[in-house]
Amino acid sequence: MGVVVQKYGGTSVATIERIRHVAQRVKKTIERGHQCIVVVSAMGKTTDELVHLATQISKFPSQREMDMLLTSGEQVSIALLSMALQGIGVPTRSLTGWQAAIETDDVHGKARITSINAETLQHYLNQGEVLVVAGFQGSTNGDHGGEITTLGRGGSDTTAVALAAAVQATCCEIYTDVDGVYTADPRTVPKAQRLDEISYDEMLELANLGAGVLHPRAVECAKNNNVELAVKSSFTEGRGTRVKEGSLMERQLKVRGVAHDLDVARIKVLGLPNRSDCLSVLFTDLAAAHINVDIIVQSEHEAETMDVSFSVQEKEAERAVNVLNQQQDKLGFERVIVEEGLAKLSAVGSGMVTHPGVAATMFTTLTDAGIPIKMVSTSEIKISCVIPREHTEAAMQKVHSAFGLDAAKVEV
Ligand code: ASP
Ligand code: MG
Repeated sequence: MGVVVQKYGGTSVATIERIRHVAQRVKKTIERGHQCIVVVSAMGKTTDELVHLATQISKFPSQREMDMLLTSGEQVSIALLSMALQGIGVPTRSLTGWQAAIETDDVHGKARITSINAETLQHYLNQGEVLVVAGFQGSTNGDHGGEITTLGRGGSDTTAVALAAAVQATCCEIYTDVDGVYTADPRTVPKAQRLDEISYDEMLELANLGAGVLHPRAVECAKNNNVELAVKSSFTEGRGTRVKEGSLMERQLKVRGVAHDLDVARIKVLGLPNRSDCLSVLFTDLAAAHINVDIIVQSEHEAETMDVSFSVQEKEAERAVNVLNQQQDKLGFERVIVEEGLAKLSAVGSGMVTHPGVAATMFTTLTDAGIPIKMVSTSEIKISCVIPREHTEAAMQKVHSAFGLDAAKVEV
């Protein structure tokens, strides 16, 4: 019957009662004859609470210590779920990331999985055990036995997909508090609809754009390893949404979904000398500080200077400005301006490649609603606009309607 990997997020294991409920679901999976690896997140808001504890001790805690702290959350939930399973007669073994031989690089707080030793896992599975693995953590293969790392917030999805790829699982089910992937976040757009199916590429764009239902790295990992994902609710029964290789059908729809990201700041670097090396130096230094730059807009002045604006996560804006200020002498720009309180709204769909007019619809919709557009970026299958954050909800609802998603038959 093969191995099934199931991942349960923080809300699905938030209380003892819910942990018991998850145990019952896992038991049913076993009874259908599957071997099972269960990946869990920390209970409820545990990770946020741990972050809060850290900030009370230190404004800039070291990433290594943060990893040490945050990984403790998942250690609690794997032990409790394992006990719940044993209590209903299911043989289990809880494993931390390092016990599951999930090896990562050494970028604390944002580590990437480099390898997983599937033999260890298969060995336990063949003994008839359910493996309950801590999400979001791994360890480096260091000289002194390795360092504990985390994969970045929301990283348990990635753990699940990577494990599914490593053991060649028949299915990777992501259980969450919503019953699938929607055309937009239903809390913002009440008329959003659940999709039965979505392609890896579309899902990757949506996840990158802030659709919190799946972690972007998880989708990337699923695409690279051709692991089919099923996103389902842990509270209700239902088909959920399949994330898989795209079919031709979906190309009939210009726009598949819209997403918003509320964590956006714009940084403007004014009066940068028009030298060929300036852009590369600027962004190389930001990259070295592990600051993810999103949209970049460059405008040249006639004379010797240019202005460059780029967007970053708001929480990284201060760090980005520090990096820039350190290079001011080297680069010789005039000044840096930070604008916070922005949001990014995006429309995604594989059909955009063949259907013109998506940008026009988006700009017209926003302009008609009196919403200023601060930055724009496009790719083959998406278009994004940066707008003032206070307009996000209205903008999302209008754009969702404008692309016919409110009433459209989105199921395939
Ligand atoms: N517990 C971690 C977080 O809250 C990892 C996860 O939930 O995926 O970010
Ligand atoms: Mg999550």
